[in-house]
Amino acid sequence: MSVTRPRVRDDIDEILPGVIADRRHLHQHPELGFQEVETARFVEERLRAIGIQEVQTGIATTGLTGLIRGGKGPGKVVLLRADMDALPIHEQNDVEYKSLHDGVMHACGHDAHTAMLMGIARVLHDRRDEFAGTVKVLFQPAEEGGGGARVMIEEGVLDAPNVDAVFGMHMAQETPVGKIAVRPGPAMAAADRFTIVIKGKGGHGAAPHLTVDPIAIGAQIVVALQTIVAREIDPIQPAVVTVGAFLAGEAANVIPDSAELRGTVRSFDPDVRTQLQERITALVQGIATAMRAEAEVRYNPGYPPTVNEPEMTALVREVAIGVVGEENVIEEPVKMGAEDFSYFLEARPGSFFFVGTRNPDKGFVWGHHHPRFDIDEEGMGYGMETMIQTVLRYLETP
Ligand SMILES: [Zn+2]
Ligand SMILES: [Zn+2]
Repeated sequence: MSVTRPRVRDDIDEILPGVIADRRHLHQHPELGFQEVETARFVEERLRAIGIQEVQTGIATTGLTGLIRGGKGPGKVVLLRADMDALPIHEQNDVEYKSLHDGVMHACGHDAHTAMLMGIARVLHDRRDEFAGTVKVLFQPAEEGGGGARVMIEEGVLDAPNVDAVFGMHMAQETPVGKIAVRPGPAMAAADRFTIVIKGKGGHGAAPHLTVDPIAIGAQIVVALQTIVAREIDPIQPAVVTVGAFLAGEAANVIPDSAELRGTVRSFDPDVRTQLQERITALVQGIATAMRAEAEVRYNPGYPPTVNEPEMTALVREVAIGVVGEENVIEEPVKMGAEDFSYFLEARPGSFFFVGTRNPDKGFVWGHHHPRFDIDEEGMGYGMETMIQTVLRYLETP
């Protein structure tokens, strides 16, 4: 008598309540980047309970990986990634799983990513005799600005065994639950930061001729920076220059010694990215000099653009059609937001896709990084199924 293996969807239906409970536990206990100590411990316990023996912890401080070796022998190695960090936001939701940590909140969905990947690991471990090759599940710290992905790669997570392909997903609060969004090629921007310090000469507000006013100079710089995108960058190329902070002065009648501007720069094209850095630096120096001040520009390169490999993305798309139906697989628009999964995609071919979690009927309408952010957890099941089927398909393709 032969026993037919239950479908992946049946596995997911069975474990989804547990995955949701895990997500809620993580939601209640959020931790900031590189401080995900309890989260990492929780994940490690789960991986070991599943039966995964090759678990490596303490990578990039709190990151960890687990290896699932297929029972049909060696083959390709595929890496699946979840991020574990929360944000410095005070939750305003009134739910039973509300954050217990004041001022810290899972407001981007990384709690769901972590819970889903633990569920995915369980299903793939249970089905390991069905595939050849190896699945590496990776839980990283500090996606929200800390670049935990880069540190994990530096510490060797793509080697031994050498990883052939990488996949990741993100909850998408602008996409209705039940839909999956994919995008081949460039999907999310590169994000760089700058800090400009304008050194003038302070003095009495009534005697400006005896000072070098860093506020007046800073104001000129803010306006001039806006002309870079408007007048110097190819209009077909996406680019953003935003000054998000202008720090100077205390009193109405005092001209301060210095002013500080902080900003973020977004782009896709590597040449545009270089051009932005060069022109921001040159413009600031030129204006400061012309106005008798000195300026220091600190430019911090951040995440590279997130570029999905077309064939891998086609695979995700095809699998997603099988999961949610053709009408529910949409093309993700290009976003100027950034994502440190880009470091994995720089190093290996792969795809990063988006899982709809918006549901106005249940009140899940607030966007990422909002204090009332929350998701329709039903989306987690579709994300997990898409990921598991993608892995099985990828590993079986020669
Ligand atoms: Zn975020
Ligand atoms: Zn995120």
